[in-house]
Amino acid sequence: MRQIAIYGKGGIGKSTTTQNLTSALGEMGKKVMLVGCDPKADSTRLLLGGLMQKTVLDTLRSEGDEGVELDKVMKMGYHNINCVESGGPEPGVGCAGRGIITSIGLLENLGAYTDDLDYVFYDVLGDVVCGGFAMPIREGKAKEIYIVASGEMMAIYAANNICKGILKFAKSGGCRLGGIICNSRKTDREEELLTHFAEKLGSHLIQFVPRDNVVQHAEINRKTVIEYQPEAPQANVYRSLARNIDANQKFVIPKPLELEELESLMMEFGMFDQ
Ligand code: ADP
Ligand code: MG
Repeated sequence: MRQIAIYGKGGIGKSTTTQNLTSALGEMGKKVMLVGCDPKADSTRLLLGGLMQKTVLDTLRSEGDEGVELDKVMKMGYHNINCVESGGPEPGVGCAGRGIITSIGLLENLGAYTDDLDYVFYDVLGDVVCGGFAMPIREGKAKEIYIVASGEMMAIYAANNICKGILKFAKSGGCRLGGIICNSRKTDREEELLTHFAEKLGSHLIQFVPRDNVVQHAEINRKTVIEYQPEAPQANVYRSLARNIDANQKFVIPKPLELEELESLMMEFGMFDQ
């Protein structure tokens, strides 16, 4: 069982990419569980036909600690993907990462990590500096990490920060960076920039995902692109991502860049007026 965490700044496309990726793995015959670790709790919606699944924290709140059964918090989605949403505290109250800790504990107690699983994915908001969000890698649950980024400064900045976190837990938790996924925002020389950035980290660009309106069309229809338009070129991009991850052999302890290095990389690729 490979346990994989997908990190990246909010809005970068983690949930969209992860649901398409897991769908493509499902098509390949892999058995997958997807655990949404964003307080927004929208990590599994496209796999569940738009259903906003009741989160683990909300279920515990309404049902109490005793008597929660697995089928209350885990729903079967497209291609038999097991879907879980951790949820978060009420806005402004408590630790936003607590849902993750609670969820993983509960899933373990309820026997959700079955031997037939090929993959467990954690879709984690990554630009918040909080121990709770580091939980999947801190505790050694997810040994493999992919970061979703784009050519935008803030996305790269967040990706670099996430690498600092990985570095911190690489020794204790044993986590490794498996690659960078570029989810395009159509910035200048984006693929080149991300390829260079990934290489500087000691890693690689595992897939360039173009920006394509079919993603929105699928989303409006509450589906992944894989389900909504299986023959679309964008669906094949997600299939390629799935194959690349399935075959990946390059797992590294990343070398985060210094701020000056990061800025000069951006400058080199025309991000700043000179
Ligand atoms: P995150 O989970 O990182 O917060 P989402 O996956 O929710 O981000 O994506 C944010 C929005 O960006 C979504 O509404 C989605 O439609 C859009 N989006 C993501 N990836 C693409 C893409 N490759 N092409 C077009 N739109 C995209
Ligand atoms: Mg999300």
